Amino acid sequence: MKVPFNRPYMTGNELSNIAEAHANGHLSGDGAFTKKCHAWLEANTHANRALLTHSCTAALEMAALLTDLKPGDEVIMPSFTFVSTANAFVLRGAVPIFVDIRADTLNLDERLIEAAITPRTKAICVVHYAGVSCDMDAIGDIARKHGLYVIEDAAQGICSTYKNQPLGTIGDLGALSFHETKNIISGEGGALLVRDPEFGERAEIIREKGTNRSRFFRGQVDKYTWVDQGSSFLPGEITAAFLSAQLDQAEAITERRLALWQRYYEWAQEYESRGLIRRPIVPSDCKHNAHMFYMLLPDLEKRTRFIQLLREHDVQAVFHYIPLHSAPHGLKTGRAHGDLIVTDRVSDTLVRMPLWVGLDSQLDRVFSVAGEALEKL
Ligand SMILES: *Cc1c(COP(=O)(O)O)cnc(C)c1O
Repeated sequence: MKVPFNRPYMTGNELSNIAEAHANGHLSGDGAFTKKCHAWLEANTHANRALLTHSCTAALEMAALLTDLKPGDEVIMPSFTFVSTANAFVLRGAVPIFVDIRADTLNLDERLIEAAITPRTKAICVVHYAGVSCDMDAIGDIARKHGLYVIEDAAQGICSTYKNQPLGTIGDLGALSFHETKNIISGEGGALLVRDPEFGERAEIIREKGTNRSRFFRGQVDKYTWVDQGSSFLPGEITAAFLSAQLDQAEAITERRLALWQRYYEWAQEYESRGLIRRPIVPSDCKHNAHMFYMLLPDLEKRTRFIQLLREHDVQAVFHYIPLHSAPHGLKTGRAHGDLIVTDRVSDTLVRMPLWVGLDSQLDRVFSVAGEALEKL
């Protein structure tokens, strides 16, 4: 039997929710299920405002609009991330400044940020890789000192915390993803988390094509009109209905993923002690969500061979990001701050193992295939 890298988990309640949305006859955005998802997110993250979007990409684009980034403004971010982290700002003409990551957490190295700040720097966009938080205290201190916004790409971070604070609510704005490959899913989907009331109303307007439609529906204004720039960032109710079923079980899904992650972590201990791999490192003030179990191999050749050996035994393991600073559009639009040595090394040596709810019964086979492959490298 093939073990895929990911298999979307369904709670079993998605279709009945969709039937209910269908029966409600309200299929565009911001109906009953969207409100339910907003309420869940606000209760569980303590964000001042949570707004569903059609993707994390869209939520990041909203963050770039909300912070009024202008052509030539600079945004400090890691290069070891998904393209949307950079694209959202590049769409506004802003310049991504790529800073290296920490060798332990693979997150933006806070010790390198200050040297990358210029008079044009407007924001720091952090990425919580594998659902493990960046050092948000240190990054918050730097941002306050230099008057910068902090935007969190928390695409992988739902149900994770930093010093008990949910990821996505520590910086000014946070973006979650509900893409099929994430922990909690709706096919495509995302949310913008707004920490302070200051951004809340404008976020609503930008999400609704630059209109004050939301205020109109609440009876706060007597007509709705074009008041700001904006776009259509909201999902329809079918998507929200699906997502609502998932959010209802977010805690149980996270627990099951954590149990699988823990089994990987214990299995890999022996190989780490023999110097064959390195396991993920989770700082003690971070509670993670088992979004991913990765291992770092000694070099690119061994990583390539490892993935190949697993494939020969029908186990799908995958590598991750090609660094943005050396990608064609990254070279054209961004700038690397110094040598991104850790980024380049991790990009060559990281492998992500299958991890999805329901994998339990096949995990022993994954261990034996992966263990044999590691012995052969
Ligand atoms: C998945 C992911 C995204 C994109 O999420 P979408 O919902 O597909 O737009 C952005 N950033 C990171 C770090 C991701 O992992």
